Amino acid sequence: MLILGPCSAESRTQMLEIGRQLRGRADYLRAGVWKPRTRCGSFSGVGEPALAWLVEAAKLAEATPITEVELPEHVDLAAEAGLRAVWLGARSVCSPALIDALAERLALWGVSAWVKNPIAPCLELWIGAIERLEAYGVEVLGAIFRGVKSLEPTRYRNTPAWQIAQGVRIFRPTLPLLCDLSHIAGKRDLLADVASEARATSLFSGLMIEVHARPNDAITDAKQQVTPQEVEALIGRFEDPK
Ligand code: PEP
Ligand code: MN
Repeated sequence: MLILGPCSAESRTQMLEIGRQLRGRADYLRAGVWKPRTRCGSFSGVGEPALAWLVEAAKLAEATPITEVELPEHVDLAAEAGLRAVWLGARSVCSPALIDALAERLALWGVSAWVKNPIAPCLELWIGAIERLEAYGVEVLGAIFRGVKSLEPTRYRNTPAWQIAQGVRIFRPTLPLLCDLSHIAGKRDLLADVASEARATSLFSGLMIEVHARPNDAITDAKQQVTPQEVEALIGRFEDPK
């Protein structure tokens, strides 16, 4: 299972280019339409107009379009644009009340969800979000592990506290669990190491990786995005460590 695509949808041209380049390579084409930013004033996504670019690009990629929803009204807009799947991000999953509000709207539209782990190293919040969605009747497609924030300086942007991923695997033994190499690594040179570590855990059934036609020009997460050519080696590393 592969979720590939840029951190953010930046323009129609950018999205169609990456859609073409990833043709037949991904199960889902991802792009952030609304970007949850930790600090005020950062680029927070193009918003609604980008949904149509994502849908168009996903057709070229022969993949299912997927984006993050941060607010209940995002669910309405995504569903109206034809999206059948979304992901809930690391910042949202920290807020049970927000998850309830999103779950209500997802259930209403019959939109399914992937659930990232929260930024904080808290397995219970992650499990709680999955339970809340299910309680509203939302189909949870799987969980995505993106590492956790550490107090100490670390090699990676987010620490791959594998025991948290293992916790969700024990909670739901058959739920698909993906490893988000990009948001763990934070730098493209470190993605291969995370791919090897993830493989060694045997916890994951697939990957989320940020892919951009021109990573250095990306508006968000330029340091960690890779080209469609580079992503092949990472997938290979995850599937075959030799
Ligand atoms: C993302 O996938 O673009 C993203 C913002 O991730 P996270 O919620 O894991 O920080
Ligand atoms: Mn990103």
